[in-house]
Amino acid sequence: MRVLRVRIDRLARRHRDGLLAIGDAAHAMSPAGGVGINLAIQDAVAAANALASGLRTGRPNEALLHRTQRRREPSARAVQAVQRRLETVLARVAEPGAAVPVPLPLRVLQRVPALRHLMGRFIGLGLRPEHATR
Ligand SMILES: Cc1cc2nc3c(=O)[nH]c(=O)nc-3n(C[C@H](O)[C@H](O)[C@H](O)COP(=O)(O)OP(=O)(O)OC[C@H]3O[C@@H](n4cnc5c(N)ncnc54)[C@H](O)[C@@H]3O)c2cc1C
Repeated sequence: MRVLRVRIDRLARRHRDGLLAIGDAAHAMSPAGGVGINLAIQDAVAAANALASGLRTGRPNEALLHRTQRRREPSARAVQAVQRRLETVLARVAEPGAAVPVPLPLRVLQRVPALRHLMGRFIGLGLRPEHATR
C-alpha cells in the first residue's frame, strides 16, 4: 500500500526567465477546506491578465513575473495558514477518545452571520478576487 504524502508548502521564488509557476506548482495545497483549485484558477486569471499583452509581442520580463508573484502570494499565505490550523484541529479530533472543544474562531463564526458570509467569500473568492480583464 502507498500512502499519499500531503504537503503544504510554497516556492520562495515562483519565476525565472520564461517561466512562471502557478497553482500547486507554486504553493502546494492540502485538501483542508477544499480550496486549492480556487487558488490555482485565481493564479491563472491573474497571470493571464498581467502577461497576455506582453506575450503577444514577445516575452514578459522578470519584473512583470515578479509583480504577478507579489500580487498572488498573500492569498496563498493566508489560505495555507488557515489550512495548517484546520489540520491541527482535525488531527486532534481524530485522536482516539478525543473530546476537542470547538475552537474559539469557529464558535465566533457560528454566532455571527456576517462573519460566516465573509468566511464564505474568503473560501470561494480568496483574499484577493481575480476577474478576467479581456
Ligand atoms: C488528497 C487531496 C485532496 C484535495 N481535495 C481538494 C478539494 O476537494 N478541493 C480543492 O479545491 N482542492 C483540493 N485539493 C487541492 C487541489 O488538488 C490542488 O490545489 C489543485 O489541484 C491545484 O491545481 P493545479 O492545476 O495547480 O495542479 P494539479 O491539479 O496538480 O495539476 C497539475 C497537472 O499537471 C500534470 N503534469 C505534471 N507534470 C507534468 C508534465 N511534465 N507534463 C505534463 N503534465 C504534467 C499533472 O498530471 C496534473 O494533471 C486536494 C489535494 C489533495 C492532495
